[in-house]
Amino acid sequence: MTEESPALYVVPTPLGHLGDMTPRAIEVLRQVPWIAAEDTRHSAPLLRHFGCQARLLAAHQHNEESAAQQVIARLAAGESVALIVDAGTPAVSDPGARLVARVRAAAYRIVPLPGPCAAIVALSAAGLSEAHFLFYGFLPSKAGQRAEALRELVHLPYALVFYEAPHRILETVAALAEVFGLERTLVLARELTKLFESIHACALGEAQDWLLADSNRQRGEFVLLVSGAPRVEEAAEGERVLKLLLDDGLSVSQATRLAHAISGVGKKALYQRALLLRG
Ligand code: SAM
Repeated sequence: MTEESPALYVVPTPLGHLGDMTPRAIEVLRQVPWIAAEDTRHSAPLLRHFGCQARLLAAHQHNEESAAQQVIARLAAGESVALIVDAGTPAVSDPGARLVARVRAAAYRIVPLPGPCAAIVALSAAGLSEAHFLFYGFLPSKAGQRAEALRELVHLPYALVFYEAPHRILETVAALAEVFGLERTLVLARELTKLFESIHACALGEAQDWLLADSNRQRGEFVLLVSGAPRVEEAAEGERVLKLLLDDGLSVSQATRLAHAISGVGKKALYQRALLLRG
């Protein structure tokens, strides 16, 4: 940190485990005279724990414009400000983006610190093989809008990353299965970095039963990751193999099983295609 040049520091905070606070984040939060926090009461214990004495500004979803003006006034007075949210990285399904944009427009330095982010933590342990991912965050809460949003994603060959709250987990998992089908992989990453952390991977069609089998599995905060749509070449390869096997006299179910093992295309889609091909 250089005291001569005031900056807005964007500082991630732990998702649950205080040990995930980086030394650099602690240093910045101890040295800045001001901290803009999503919820000042929520962040007070964390800041006390790390011995941060800064004065606090509220910067939440409903006052981001006026908070930005306050932050710019502090920067104009030569004082640095750190921006934090309740947990994780600012501006990732959280306030921060508008404030950052205003500060940038006012030509002050913005210094982002790396640190905890639920989407990235979940992705690192999901084991999905896609080379690309799409971070979606929260789906709409209304069923119709949620289904519409999911339909827009259905053909993307990228791992899809959603945030979800416990009271909507069952209906969201049902909606994912409804739109994406039963075969894709779903990873449920729950309570990351906390005492009851769990990471479970299964087929979308099995997720509802897994959640219902133990009500504890529906508790806490979730990241949901869904494997991407099979690539067009993959689907074409699946069809090619399927045809060969059927032509060779294999039954619909044998051909489906083998074509799935060879091409990786979902069994349900292959089975339906095989039935059509057999007429
Ligand atoms: N800005 C945060 C970040 O960097 O991840 C996300 C904030 S968003 C308001 C809160 C959502 O993030 C939760 O509903 C949940 O989907 C996800 N989340 C936050 N902490 C989590 C945790 N410990 N385990 C799993 N998901 C978590």
